[in-house]
Amino acid sequence: MSSDLMTIAICWELGEKVSVEYANSNSTLYYFCPEPECLERVAPVQGKINIFFRALNRHVTGCRHEKETTESSGAPGKPKKFTTAVPPTTVPTHLGIIPVSSRKTDPDPTQLLRLSQQVRTSPVTHPGTFQEVVDAWQTMSTGERNQHQLTIANQTSSYANAFTSLIHTGGGNLSAVNNSSIAWGPASVKLYGGSFFIKTFNKLNDGINRARIRIIVRPGQAYFSQLTHGTNINLFLHTTPTINNKGDYFEIPPSTPYSGFIIK
Ligand SMILES: [Zn+2]
Repeated sequence: MSSDLMTIAICWELGEKVSVEYANSNSTLYYFCPEPECLERVAPVQGKINIFFRALNRHVTGCRHEKETTESSGAPGKPKKFTTAVPPTTVPTHLGIIPVSSRKTDPDPTQLLRLSQQVRTSPVTHPGTFQEVVDAWQTMSTGERNQHQLTIANQTSSYANAFTSLIHTGGGNLSAVNNSSIAWGPASVKLYGGSFFIKTFNKLNDGINRARIRIIVRPGQAYFSQLTHGTNINLFLHTTPTINNKGDYFEIPPSTPYSGFIIK
């Protein structure tokens, strides 16, 4: 039996192993224990510190997830030992929200067993924000970037292929900056009129205009307190720039958790 929190289950509708963070954002779906001898239905619950999976009834005797279920549903006042463990950081497999096409009918035990065997060695489906995806990429070795899958806008490639360096785009084609991949490159930071102006080193070309990408960070906005005049930063972009009215800079739409810009 394990003393780890249960943070991975199988999602029937998705047909994949999923992280508990995914399940917590999609709590109406059908999740079950991946252990072939168990396959008990589970649901995400919020503990004192972490979110984890708990069996709706109980895991079968001998299931590696049996113990924490018993302890975390223990008597009132009893310390919930396993709710304080911090699960390992899961590498995002998707940037953004994963669409679930349709609600399937509830599975029978044979279907659950078949699915658990199919996904035994598959990666854990874990949607990440733009920040989480960039953080994961940054900590990976070149080998790991080739090895880990990343799905953006329904297209699956590796972390290595999903990230494009603006320095290496040759003619500086603006199409490298888009909503189906992540572009990154150096940019300068200048303070002007109380706001920071971030500009890419390279000019980019959209077929008509040739200009740098510019982001203005005003007081109170994200990153403002971390920027310093006269420094260079790495800028990560997952967005669609458009030329401004004067035609001298490409500007980007406001960021969301899943798009926009990240500064490193
Ligand atoms: Zn189980």
